[in-house]
Amino acid sequence: MDRVLSRDIKDHEGKEAELVGWVDTRRDHGKLIFIDLRDRTGVTQVVFIPKNKELHALAEKLRPEWVIKIKGTIGKRPAGMENPKIPSGYHELQATGLEIITEAKTPPIDVTGDGREIGEEIRMKYRYLDLRRPRMQKNLRMRAKVNKFIRDFLTERDFVEIETPDIGKSTPEGARDYLIPSRLYPGKFYALPQSPQQYKQLLMVAGMERYFQIVRCFRDEDTRGDRQPEFTQLDIEMSFTSQDEVLALIEELYAKMVKELYPEKKIKWSPFPRLNYADVMAKYHSDKPDLRDDKNDPNELAFAFVVNFPMFEWKETEKRWDAVHHPFTMPQVKDTDDFWAKFKKDPASIPAFQYDFVLNGYEIGGGSIRIHDPKLLAAVFEAMGNDPKDIQEKFGHMLEAFAYGVPPHGGIAPGIDRFMMILENEPNIREVIAFPKTGDGKDLMMDAPSEVSKEQLKELHISVEEKNKKK
Ligand code: ASP
Repeated sequence: MDRVLSRDIKDHEGKEAELVGWVDTRRDHGKLIFIDLRDRTGVTQVVFIPKNKELHALAEKLRPEWVIKIKGTIGKRPAGMENPKIPSGYHELQATGLEIITEAKTPPIDVTGDGREIGEEIRMKYRYLDLRRPRMQKNLRMRAKVNKFIRDFLTERDFVEIETPDIGKSTPEGARDYLIPSRLYPGKFYALPQSPQQYKQLLMVAGMERYFQIVRCFRDEDTRGDRQPEFTQLDIEMSFTSQDEVLALIEELYAKMVKELYPEKKIKWSPFPRLNYADVMAKYHSDKPDLRDDKNDPNELAFAFVVNFPMFEWKETEKRWDAVHHPFTMPQVKDTDDFWAKFKKDPASIPAFQYDFVLNGYEIGGGSIRIHDPKLLAAVFEAMGNDPKDIQEKFGHMLEAFAYGVPPHGGIAPGIDRFMMILENEPNIREVIAFPKTGDGKDLMMDAPSEVSKEQLKELHISVEEKNKKK
């Protein structure tokens, strides 16, 4: 007997079949018992007739979310009972056998609706149930398709997917690092990467030329609707490239991806406009303008690039000039002398080869052409207030690598979470992440962060101040 999925039962009319899955709903109509059996492809209506007494009695026990195996014959639903909205809606399985694999307690949340009315805390605590709802199933399955599309598209164009470490050294992306205490080196710490920025640049020094990675980034910031402590980027870096080439690649990737995976969406324009940062700020007072014609239309996608960001901004708290993007970004200067001349005159007026990718009022990515002249790189570090000792400690490995033949290079890193949120018309990125943290940074399902044993802390040479402990 064939094992058949809900989406395929229409192709098995008149045949015997076996289905496995969860009891989605149960309805009793007089003597007939109907259940909807749910599998990964949808639901199948199953009908138990009273003639087979034993089977009927067993079916009477069934409750929502029990896991079952059903055998039977696939037939047409009686006229008037069809459901044209689902692929299996013209057929049903007339049960001849039922095996209860596991029973289920009554779920604390409904998993059949879209769940928008259910409090988020309880959804997060029972996330494995919450993910059963069709909306969440779709979000995760579409996300996988987006990832696959990206991988195929870039691999066909000679990009190499390379994994970089999660346990490494802090990269300055302007956020706070998550630190990992070292057991073997008391008092020393690794950092989780805010992005693989330095690794991907070192891969250019290594001659890989075209790199990408769908990668997790970690930033210890306050969580918001479109921010999580860890989030996923499509990280890209290319050698011997230009700003135009990077943007053209991204445009082609996103235009093709939307066309294939979200044909109902309309991209407002082609090419995506390249807008000057200063003009955008003057006109929209935001560096991520919502350029849709109709801001209520979720199917309109107004992609754009904002270019020519300033290289530096004044950081009042630290009383120093800081890179708007990161210090590896190429300022629009002729050489190091020209850089110092311009910096001394007016640091805020130096534009960079830096760009953001924006969509419907969100920043969905950013990148830059990088400095490949080690002298200019050292000058930028110095301009940002690092003394020679700091530079050596924090970035010595980059300067050293760049002394061994570095190609000109540049890249970009569009975020996957925000993009999926927009495509799926979701109000926040938690809806497109399997196991997100809550708005206040907790994993309610696993209960993290949590306390660890004294022994663990001792091994890590760490003591926690009692007065700072927080529930
Ligand atoms: N590393 C940068 C970021 O995470 C992206 C880039 O410059 O490629 O924003």
